[in-house]
Amino acid sequence: MGFKITFLGTGGGRHSTMYQTRCTGGMLIEHGAEKHHLHIDPGPGALTQMHRIHYDPADTDSIIISHAHPDHYSDAEVAIEGMTHGGWIKHGHIYGSPTVITGEGELGPCISQYHQNIAETVTVFRPGDILDIDGLHTEICFANHSDPTNVGFKFNTSNGIVAYVSDTGYTDEIADQYIGVRVLILPVTAPNDSRILFHLCTEDAVKFINRVKPKLAIFTHLGIIMIKKDPAKQAEMTEKATGVRTIAATDLLVLDIGEDITISNAQKYDDEWIPPSAP
Ligand SMILES: [Zn+2]
Ligand SMILES: [Zn+2]
Repeated sequence: MGFKITFLGTGGGRHSTMYQTRCTGGMLIEHGAEKHHLHIDPGPGALTQMHRIHYDPADTDSIIISHAHPDHYSDAEVAIEGMTHGGWIKHGHIYGSPTVITGEGELGPCISQYHQNIAETVTVFRPGDILDIDGLHTEICFANHSDPTNVGFKFNTSNGIVAYVSDTGYTDEIADQYIGVRVLILPVTAPNDSRILFHLCTEDAVKFINRVKPKLAIFTHLGIIMIKKDPAKQAEMTEKATGVRTIAATDLLVLDIGEDITISNAQKYDDEWIPPSAP
């Protein structure tokens, strides 16, 4: 059936986002027999990164936004224009937390009413919900973040569960939701024990992975101090401490999750590519 993830960006947090030390832009997932495309957390630079790998945003079927922080949503409206062929074709589905879709307190909404109206459906999710995203069975998990409506995701693929834990602080209860997953994608914003409130550091990642025991753990959403400390080294330390294969993602890394898991890099172009859906 296939489940392929392309990391458009692996930066996260304010500083690595504003300096673009690592790219941001979320993840693109290709899934199912019909090769549906799901874009998760289209942060700054998502469109640029899609251009670099010659991905036509009109191929996107659904967009998920976990919460109302700009490293997760800033390119969302343009990605929606891409998904709807410039707003001309009512196509695709938008999923977001309450702050993303309706706004709450000081946060959001992140998508204008116009952009919500050009999609086929708009869904607000909360922890405990189960979504059918173009045939992909998706469970919504709770998190502990400065946007209190943020969540994590468990995608049930034909080759095991793949989880994307969006921004959160560590608690045993949060980790326990992911027991049984095959691939655990963790936002490890900070290195060693330099804990930032409502985010994970490497020490938290070790605890998280020891509890969940996935087959493979992936670090992403790397903050500036994490990048200074060499994410690959932090992942290696984690692998030693947990016995679980752990990789720090790099920009445009591709994970193909079938019976085996293969890791490669997307082909990059530097040209004036015009996608097939263009006028
Ligand atoms: Zn973030
Ligand atoms: Zn956040």
